[in-house]
Amino acid sequence: MIAVVADLVEREMAYTTDSGVYFAVDRLSGYGALVHRSVEDLREGAGARVDVDDDKADPLDFALWKAAKEGEPAWDSPWGPGRPGWHIECVAMSLDLLGDGFDIHGGGDDLIFPHHENERAEALGCGRAFATHWVHNGMVQVGGEKMSKSLGNFTTLGDLLGAWDPRALRLLVLQTHYRRTMEIGSDTLDQAAAALGRLDTFADRATQANLPASVPDPAVVERFRSAMDDDLGTPAAVAVLFDAVRDANRAIDIEDDTGAAALAAAVTTLSSVLGLELGSRGSSVPDPEATEIDGLVADRSAAKAAGEYAEADRIRDALTARGIQLEDNPAGTTWRRS
Ligand SMILES: [Zn+2]
Repeated sequence: MIAVVADLVEREMAYTTDSGVYFAVDRLSGYGALVHRSVEDLREGAGARVDVDDDKADPLDFALWKAAKEGEPAWDSPWGPGRPGWHIECVAMSLDLLGDGFDIHGGGDDLIFPHHENERAEALGCGRAFATHWVHNGMVQVGGEKMSKSLGNFTTLGDLLGAWDPRALRLLVLQTHYRRTMEIGSDTLDQAAAALGRLDTFADRATQANLPASVPDPAVVERFRSAMDDDLGTPAAVAVLFDAVRDANRAIDIEDDTGAAALAAAVTTLSSVLGLELGSRGSSVPDPEATEIDGLVADRSAAKAAGEYAEADRIRDALTARGIQLEDNPAGTTWRRS
């Protein structure tokens, strides 16, 4: 952090005062580009918030290093004892660990200004390329208000998952575009659970219809793909899935087995892309065999970790004989019925 601040001072993008080191926003062309506002516009907003004891040249200038006041925690620096400003740590870490011009910087949309705008300014001020893409997600709301610890209107994920099928929560998240505000509450979760019920009902119906094996309907897959390619348009992608369920139900009604099979295969494939396991298998109703298999998979992982490879292989072979296929990933082992 000190090296980045020193570089900005050296390049005359920053200046030192009695209270610390500040970034001079008027020395960087394009300040405000991330939040899509002009420097004049931003300055008007900032003017009202200037501290009386501030000795900045411009109300928009922001601290890179704050000189310690009496009794505050402090570290040594070329500008005397103090502490880093808010934004500098993210710039120092991302440029050090990810390098110049890294792909994606994420964050909540409440951080676009000033935090991300200032991170970007600091990196560009050092002559370095910063994030190529910025991905800002909308806030979660309860009853029209931002969910926050300070308002006390928050629900923990644990509480939600205890009361609702986890897949209903996942579907609700997918039905809200990531950049939009998501309303979490009994109403929206009820709606998601009902929608999920339609998917499960279809999956069970397709199983009973005993449809022939088929590749997923290519037109449906293509519509899904283009929805996702448009800024991760999950609400449109979910709509494609529900359209396919409607069409597949009609195909089963008129005994068009070939059409139904291709649509049903698309529903299965696209649901699994979205992380939704459908039908009785996917519901939260306990499945004793699945619990037993989970236990055996965990035993095998433990055996592998302990170097007992013969035992690990024995468990795998026993599962294979039962028609269970294992897949080892960096994150762990998953299984499916073949
Ligand atoms: Zn940050």
